[in-house]
Amino acid sequence: MTIPRSASVEIIAVGSELLTPHRQDTNSLFLTARLNDLGYAVRFKTVVGDETAGLALRLGEALEQVALVILIGGLGPTEDDKTRSAVARALGRRLVFRPDILKTIEERFRNRQVRMTSPNRRQAYIVEGAAVLPNANGTAPGQWVRAGSKTVVLLPGPPHELKAMFDKSVAPRLERRRAGFIARRALMTTGLGESALESLISGLYPKAGGGLDLTILASPGQVELHVVSHSRVSRKLAEKKADGLAARLRSRLSEHIYSDRGESLEESLARLLRDRKMTVAVAESCTGGFLGHRLTAVPGSSAYFLGGFIVYSDALKTGLLGVPQELIQSAGAVSSEVAEAMAAGTLSRTGSDFALAVTGIAGPGGGSPEKPVGLVWIALAWRGGVDVRKSLFWGRRELVKFQSAQKAMDMLRRHLLQPEAAGNRDVT
Ligand code: ATP
Ligand code: MG
Repeated sequence: MTIPRSASVEIIAVGSELLTPHRQDTNSLFLTARLNDLGYAVRFKTVVGDETAGLALRLGEALEQVALVILIGGLGPTEDDKTRSAVARALGRRLVFRPDILKTIEERFRNRQVRMTSPNRRQAYIVEGAAVLPNANGTAPGQWVRAGSKTVVLLPGPPHELKAMFDKSVAPRLERRRAGFIARRALMTTGLGESALESLISGLYPKAGGGLDLTILASPGQVELHVVSHSRVSRKLAEKKADGLAARLRSRLSEHIYSDRGESLEESLARLLRDRKMTVAVAESCTGGFLGHRLTAVPGSSAYFLGGFIVYSDALKTGLLGVPQELIQSAGAVSSEVAEAMAAGTLSRTGSDFALAVTGIAGPGGGSPEKPVGLVWIALAWRGGVDVRKSLFWGRRELVKFQSAQKAMDMLRRHLLQPEAAGNRDVT
């Protein structure tokens, strides 16, 4: 992100356990969200084990790159808590004993009727020149250290201690020297691959240095566009910049975008169906109920979702939906013809306005050269018409199921966006 250096941050999470698969650095997620709200952007995020030398080295490097370094953890009373001494070493300062901090810690122990052990004395040392940040929920105080134009902040590791301390003591200090304002917009698309999408928006990538950034995050069945803008002057200006780029993207991508306000695909489809007072029912083979599950993930789904059929076997496709046995034999269960017949059967049996039918090969077994794993036929039927699409999805079983449901919902969503869709219910 093209933010001024005075707004750039590195978060250093301290703890050897964070370098194992057993513990994750979640504190930095909280901090990042808060920092962004205050107009700061995290430029680097690192994890360092409990070792003074490595920590001092990393801190020294960080101070060459960013204006603000926040260290998380390693403020405890034990031998493996190295943050204080590492910061002192990196800044070339002494650690100073503060009797008043020791007194506060002793009081805390006395109030809880626990005997203080001597290692807790360590927590009464601060980096020379640091401001002490009180810890309302624990013994280790935080520290705010100015070093020339740079600032180093030490926060305790336990999340409830860190959060309370950040909001009470760090946020107000950062607010006072706020380096600007950040605005974000997320545009969610589906039905278009990453490269197709990129070619549609060519020329819209913002130039470096203008305080505007565009990131494309692709995952199977979905591509997100994230716009982030920064203004030194006001939140309004940051929002105006972000909205400007979001609008240009929207005009290029139009119906490929299903949401620009944080809605999920199922929510945006739900809104379209509710607005039009129309209903949908489903017939699912390879998705095994997953499509119905997603459609009912939205509160109030009974307004538009009638129900569905999980017809995994050929016998149920015939028995429940009336798909002719001969058709399954001649065309195969995974075929355009069977998908269409499943949708038609669902429509006539439920009386819904729309029916979605999915039949495919989720894998990992069951594929053949003509019908490989990932081949999925999806039919959308309404009274008066049907649309059948073939897809070849990549990935493991769950991903094939996810993309199938995604595609099915997207077919209906796009259909509903067509001006004539609202009249479908009257066509016979
Ligand atoms: P303490 O006084 O409890 O020792 P501390 O400041 O020394 O606090 P750590 O010892 O590093 O902090 O971590 C204490 C606990 O806080 C860890 O066991 C872990 O559960 C949690 N913790 C530490 N760092 C993080 C982090 N980055 N993200 C989430 N949790 C963390
Ligand atoms: Mg500790």
